[in-house]
Amino acid sequence: MPIELSVVVPCYDEEESLPRLVEVLTQELSALTPHFEVILVDDGSRDRTLPMLREVHRAHPRFRYLSLSRNFGKESAMLAGLSHARGDKVAIMDADLQHPPTLLAQMLPLLESGEYSQVVARRTRTDDPVVRTALSRLYYKMMNRLVEVELEDGVGDFRVLDRRAVRALLTLGETNRFSKGLFAWIGFPTAVVDYENVSREAGATKWSLRSLFNYGIDGVVSFNYRPLRMSIWLGIVVTAIAVGYALWVLVDAIVNGNSVPGYVTTICAVTALGGVQLIVLGVIGEYLGRIYAETKQRPLFLLKESSELDAPVTSVLGREHEALEEGHGTERSEQA
Ligand code: UDP
Ligand code: MG
Repeated sequence: MPIELSVVVPCYDEEESLPRLVEVLTQELSALTPHFEVILVDDGSRDRTLPMLREVHRAHPRFRYLSLSRNFGKESAMLAGLSHARGDKVAIMDADLQHPPTLLAQMLPLLESGEYSQVVARRTRTDDPVVRTALSRLYYKMMNRLVEVELEDGVGDFRVLDRRAVRALLTLGETNRFSKGLFAWIGFPTAVVDYENVSREAGATKWSLRSLFNYGIDGVVSFNYRPLRMSIWLGIVVTAIAVGYALWVLVDAIVNGNSVPGYVTTICAVTALGGVQLIVLGVIGEYLGRIYAETKQRPLFLLKESSELDAPVTSVLGREHEALEEGHGTERSEQA
C-alpha cells in the first residue's frame, strides 16, 4: 500500500521531547490515515536521541529514522528527511511540539482539494517577548523590500507539501540553504493556516541571539544581489562627498589663501573611508564565501545509520535521490 503521508521531524538533542512526540503523532496521524510514516532525523545529537529513535522504530515500524554523521543543522536534517520521504504528501514539523500536529487535520484537506501544492502554518505572536516581535516585524519589512521572493512573518518550516513541491525542493542543490526562502522560491499555489503560538514542551531552544542574527544575514544574502549593488551606490555617494569637499578646500585656498590643513578632517576622512571600505569588503566577502562553498559541491549531509538496512550510507543531493524518487528505494525498503 503506498504511503499517503510522510511526516519529517528533525531532532537535535530532543530526548526530552521524543516520548511525547511519538505519542501525539501516533494518535493524530492514525486518525488521519492508516498509511502514514514518520521520518525522524537525528541531526548528530549528543544525548540519547539516537538510541531512543532505534527503540521507537522497533516498537512502531511506521516511525523510521535517519541519523546524520554529525550536526549538520536543521536545514540539512529536513532535506535528509525530505529526500527519504516516500509519501504522496510530506509534512515537516519540529520535534518540540511547537508545531501542533492537530493542525494537520486542517491542512491536509486543503492539499487534497488539489488546488494547492503547499499548505503552510502561520503562527501568531501572542506570547512572544515584545522586543523580539518588533525586531521580527522590522526584519521582514526590510527583507521584503530587498528580496525577490515574498517572505512572511510567522511562517516557518511547519508545512505540508505535495510530491510536486517536494520534487522541486530536491532539485535545488545549493549548499547555503535558507529554506524559508527556498519554500517561497519554488512557488506553486500556497494556502496558509493560522495557529496560536505554543511554547516548547520540553528541552531548550537551540537559537541564540547570535544565531538569529546570522540567520537574518543568510536570508538577505541567499536571495539577492542587492547588497552588492548598494555597495556601489555607497561608493558613489562617498566619492561624491570627497570630491565636493576637495573642491571646497581648493576654492577656499585660492580665495582665502592657504590655511592650516585641518587635523580633525583628515582623521575623520581616513576613518570614515576605512569603515566604508571594510563594510563593502565584508559584503563582497559574504558572497565570495558562498561561491566558495557552492563550488566545493559537498554533500549537504552524510548518513551514519538509518532504520532501512540497505539505505545508502552516504546520501547527497543527486543520483541517489533520483533513484529514491523513481521508487527503487521505496521497493527495496518495503521488502526489508
Ligand atoms: N534542530 C535540528 N538541528 C539543529 C537545531 C535544531 O535538527 O542543529 C531541530 C530541533 O530538534 C527541532 C527543530 O529543529 O525539532 C527546531 O529547533 P528549536 O525548537 O530549537 O528552534 P525554535 O523552535 O526555537 O525555532
Ligand atoms: Mg522549537
